[in-house]
Amino acid sequence: MWTAERQTIPERSQPYAAGMLLHAIRYFPKTPRRAYPANVKTEPTSTTVQGLKKLQRIHQSSGKHWVGNGFPVRSVFDYNGLGRELSPFLLLDYAAPHPFAPGTEKRGVGAHPHKGFETVTVAYQGELEHRDSSGGGGKIGPGDVQWMTAGKGIVHEEFHSEAFVREGGTLQMVQLWVNLRAKDKAAPPGYQTLPKAQIPNVDLPEGAGTVRVIAGDFGGHPGAAKTFTPINVWDVELRAGKSTEFPLPEGHTTTILVLSGEVGWPGEGEPSERTVAREGALAIFTRAGAGVAVAAKTEAHILVMSGEPIPEPVVGHGPFVMNTRAEIEQAFEDYQLGRMGELI
Ligand code: MN
Repeated sequence: MWTAERQTIPERSQPYAAGMLLHAIRYFPKTPRRAYPANVKTEPTSTTVQGLKKLQRIHQSSGKHWVGNGFPVRSVFDYNGLGRELSPFLLLDYAAPHPFAPGTEKRGVGAHPHKGFETVTVAYQGELEHRDSSGGGGKIGPGDVQWMTAGKGIVHEEFHSEAFVREGGTLQMVQLWVNLRAKDKAAPPGYQTLPKAQIPNVDLPEGAGTVRVIAGDFGGHPGAAKTFTPINVWDVELRAGKSTEFPLPEGHTTTILVLSGEVGWPGEGEPSERTVAREGALAIFTRAGAGVAVAAKTEAHILVMSGEPIPEPVVGHGPFVMNTRAEIEQAFEDYQLGRMGELI
């Protein structure tokens, strides 16, 4: 997906002209907002650090905006802001439950490109349909996940399924962008549908809840997705009043989105506005430490994300995230010349 500020790409349906590329490039900031390595917040990542990761802060997601006519999302973070600290994660959009009346008009975002990263779409309510230039495509419904590797360049479209448009209903979903290392940015585009039934569902100890292992590993249960960048993505339901500890690698960037309910962090002192997270909030933890502790004040639904930081520059523009500005300009040209393929 992309958001309003990402819409500086000329339509592919227009014939390519050098002027158009220049037009696109004119929108580039003259200089990157600042030069930064992806892991700009340097913290001790020594493996000798014992204990849990500490809560750094709780970040509230921004107000709602529409992506196309189908996705009422809140931007939790993106690569021009907080995403700079959260390497390898670049962007997170959260569509809180939103009712759609039955309709006839296509809802979503038409053909647009991506390059240099992966998009992970988790559907919680509603049904989405995807089609891309690698030949990938399919529908995902509640509990299903789409994992798209844009790699060296892909064109895709994202819509509500026809049945969901016709019948209407509630939509709830997230889309996470995961960066690729420079060496993987040239990977062939790929697409994985991960149906709910293929995602391991693991019980937490002492009836604290359940973990759906979308990617990575939880307690020896490998996740459903094949990933380039070492990450964990766990979709977690917690029971009210229960606390639990999630083992997570030392040195991993670690962040948790609260989808519903209210959670706190044992060991962070008395619960307060600083330490309790509610729907739409993102908790950010130190890279140092070997896990996080979570206490569910109420029944809660959270998305746990951890990943190995990529110590490389991040230069993003619109739907492309590369390492240099020249590579972004190349991506614009490749897209406009049709080198990212056509929808199949
Ligand atoms: Mn997209």
